[in-house]
Amino acid sequence: MITKVPLRLSFCIFLLAGLAAGCSSEPKTAAPPRMAPSTSQHAAIGQLPQVDIDAMRVHTKVLSSDEYEGRAPGTKGEELTIAYLSDQFRKAGLKPGNTDGSYTQKVPLVGITPAPAPLTFRRGEQTLTLKWKDDVVAWSKHVAPSASIENSDVVFVGYGVVAPEFNWDDYKGLDVKGKTLVMLVNDPPVPDPANPAELDPKTFGGKAMTYYGRWTYKYEIGAQKGAAGVLLVHETGPAGYGFNVVQGKTGEQFDLVTPDKNMGRAAIEGWITLDQAKKLLQASGQDFDALKARAATREFTPVAIGARASMTINNTLRTIDSRNVLGRVEGSDPKVKDEYVVYTAHWDHFGKNADGIFHGAEDDALGCAALIEVARAFTKLPAAPRRSILFLAVTAEEQGLLGSEYYSVTPIYPLAKTVANINIDGVNQWGRTKDLTVVGMGASDLDDYLKAAADEQGRVLRPDPEPEKGFYYRSDHFNFAKQGVPALDPDAGIDFVGKDPAYGKSKRDEYTEKDYHAPSDEVKPDWDLSGAVEDAELLMTVGYRVANADKLPEWKPGNEFKAKRDAMLKGGK
Ligand SMILES: [Zn+2]
Repeated sequence: MITKVPLRLSFCIFLLAGLAAGCSSEPKTAAPPRMAPSTSQHAAIGQLPQVDIDAMRVHTKVLSSDEYEGRAPGTKGEELTIAYLSDQFRKAGLKPGNTDGSYTQKVPLVGITPAPAPLTFRRGEQTLTLKWKDDVVAWSKHVAPSASIENSDVVFVGYGVVAPEFNWDDYKGLDVKGKTLVMLVNDPPVPDPANPAELDPKTFGGKAMTYYGRWTYKYEIGAQKGAAGVLLVHETGPAGYGFNVVQGKTGEQFDLVTPDKNMGRAAIEGWITLDQAKKLLQASGQDFDALKARAATREFTPVAIGARASMTINNTLRTIDSRNVLGRVEGSDPKVKDEYVVYTAHWDHFGKNADGIFHGAEDDALGCAALIEVARAFTKLPAAPRRSILFLAVTAEEQGLLGSEYYSVTPIYPLAKTVANINIDGVNQWGRTKDLTVVGMGASDLDDYLKAAADEQGRVLRPDPEPEKGFYYRSDHFNFAKQGVPALDPDAGIDFVGKDPAYGKSKRDEYTEKDYHAPSDEVKPDWDLSGAVEDAELLMTVGYRVANADKLPEWKPGNEFKAKRDAMLKGGK
C-alpha cells in the first residue's frame, strides 16, 4: 500500500514552496477525495496513484534550462535530453521500450538548409521576381545538392483538393506533371445551402479544418500529381498564423530519409505572400478574389495563367541519427499484454539562434514531465494493467511530426496491437480548470473514457474552440490516427477555478502571442501546475481503463481514419 498525500495538501505544500498566492485562494470545486489505491481493474480516478506535481516542475525546469540549449535534434541539447529521459524512465521503474533492450529508437533524419534564392514568374516579356523571405519562402525536400524548376507552367488549382467522399476534385483530370501549382490554404469554404452565412458542416467539416486543409496535404497531393512546384498562397486567417511564422522556415529543416531520397516530392515547395499572388494573377488578367470565390465550388476548374516559374534552390545537407525515447510497463494479462496503450510527448524544440535559446518549457518540456510522472504513477499500481503501456518521447515534432511519423511507419510493437494513443502536448500551466479541451472531440471511443473520468473529477469536456486551425493534425497523435490507431489529443481547459471566465482565453492568447515558439517560453513565476496534475491523472485514468477494458476503443462511425483501422484489424498487421 502506498501512503498518499491528499491532492489539496500537496497543492498547498507546492504553494508554500514559494509560489504564487497562499492556500487562502482555495479552489471552489473540491478535488475528488483520495483513497488508497485499489487492486480493482476498474478503479475510480481517486484510487490510482497520484501524479507528482513537484517532480513535474523539476523535469520541466531541467529540460527547458539554458544548458539544454532548446533541445534541437542533432545537438548537445539532444544528447542531454535523451540521457535525462532515459534515466528518468529507468528510475521510474519502466522496462526498456525497445525490443533491443534499450530505451531509445534511432530516427534517421536529414537536415536540409536551403540557400536564399529568388523565384521568378515570366509571362511574355514581363517578369515578376519574388524576393526570398520577404515574398517567398521555399525549400526542396529532395535529398540532393540542388533542385529547380525551370520555365514550369503555372496553374492555379484552387484549394488543390481531391476528396472523393465530398465529390470534390480541383484538378478535373488536368495533367499537372512538371507544372507549378499555386494553391490556397485550408479547406474549400463551402456555404451551407440551408444557411449561406455559415459553412456547410457536411462538406469539409464546416468550420473545422480537415486534413485536406493542412499545408502538408497540399504538398502531398502535389507530389502525387507529379507537380514540379507547389506554392501555397499565404493568408493569415485560413493559415491560422502570420507570414512571420512561415518566414521561420528559411533555416535548416529536417525530414525522414525515404528510400527514394524524397525525389517523389515536388522539386520546389513553398509559400508566397498574398500580395505577390495577387500581382501574379493580375499580370495574367485574373482577379484573385474572383478565382478564390470560384475555388469554393465543385465546378471550379484549374486555371493555366500563362506564366512560367523558375527557381533553383541549393541545399546544404547533413544526416543525423536522432532518437525517440521509450519505456514500458508490462501488462499483467498474458493474453493481451502484447497489446499497447501508447502515451506520447515530444522532447524536441527549436534549439537556439541569434534570437536566443528556444526554451520550450510549455512546448513540450512540460508534456515530457507529465509523461515521466504518469509513467511513474503506473509503476506504483499494486497490479499492472492487463495490457502493456508504452511511454514514447518523440523527436522532431517541431520539424513536422517526424519522430512520431517514424515510429508510426516503423513501430516497435505492431500498430494492429496498438490499442490507443494518448498525446500530451499543450499542458495547462495556470492552475485548476473546470474543463478540459479535446481537439477533434467525438473522433473515437477514447473521448467516452475521458468524459467518464472527467465526470469523476467534477469536470467537463469542451471541444476545441478553434477547429478551423486544424490542431488535430498538428501534433504527434496525428501520425497514429493517420495509420488508423485511435488517438486522443487533449488540450488545456480554459475555465479556471476561482477565476473570471475571460481569464483562460486571455492567458492563452497572451501565450500564443508572446511565448509560442519564442525564446520566452520558459517556466514563469506564476506557473501553477495543480491543473496540469489533474489533467495528467485524467489521462492516466483513461490509459489505465483502456488497458484493462474488454473491448478495444474504436473510431466513431464516419471518422476519416476508421476504414484504415478496420482493414488493419482484419489483416491483423
Ligand atoms: Zn511546438
